[in-house]
Amino acid sequence: MFIAENIEKIRKRAQRSARHAGRDPDGITIVAVTKTVDAERIQEAVSAGISVLGENRVQDAREKIQKIDRAVQWHMIGHLQTNKAREAAALFDMVHSVDSLRVAQALNVEAGKQGKKLPVLVQVNISEEESKSGVKAQEALNLVKSVAAMENLTVQGLMTMPPYAEDPEKSRWVFRSLREMRDRIAEMDIQGVCMTHLSMGMSHDFETAVEEGATLIRIGTAIFGERD
Ligand SMILES: *Cc1c(COP(=O)(O)O)cnc(C)c1O
Repeated sequence: MFIAENIEKIRKRAQRSARHAGRDPDGITIVAVTKTVDAERIQEAVSAGISVLGENRVQDAREKIQKIDRAVQWHMIGHLQTNKAREAAALFDMVHSVDSLRVAQALNVEAGKQGKKLPVLVQVNISEEESKSGVKAQEALNLVKSVAAMENLTVQGLMTMPPYAEDPEKSRWVFRSLREMRDRIAEMDIQGVCMTHLSMGMSHDFETAVEEGATLIRIGTAIFGERD
């Protein structure tokens, strides 16, 4: 039962942050992050109203997708290697983590083979922290343009992960920079680009991310509890 309660609490907190920022609370979707979570607990989250699940490893997603028989969306949120592009294009409804031309090209080829138009987000490493994936801010526009020209991918927005900071206020500038970048790119009216989504905010900082414009918040621990 605690999973349903956790989800309800997150929903309420996200809605409060949205109203606080003058945003429509319905514009925020919780992506329940299922890494290390078994199918039974995932099922519980789905029963509690979660409709989008996030995984950061292709091989883990494969097993879980088979076990969850409800109509849900699966989003790839982790770093993707080109040799996993074929399976990723088959398994996922959206890829948040496009961070290079190579990986975009591989996804485009594979989505094409499957007759699929795959929505993607470009991951930007706003803080330029070495351990984080994502393109540098100054390279993001070029990658967006390249992906937009690919026949079988559609750019739907941007994703970022700030360096870990206990205090979410320390991450606010990262979220704000991503939103400003999104707004600048949206104004350019690039064909094949629809800058709807900002994927940002995790268990400990999603309220700040929502205040700064997040539409997809990626929540693991606050729903399922601490990972081992
Ligand atoms: C694990 C993970 C999350 C969720 O993190 P929590 O702190 O458990 O909410 C979000 N995004 C990505 C990319 C992750 O790998």
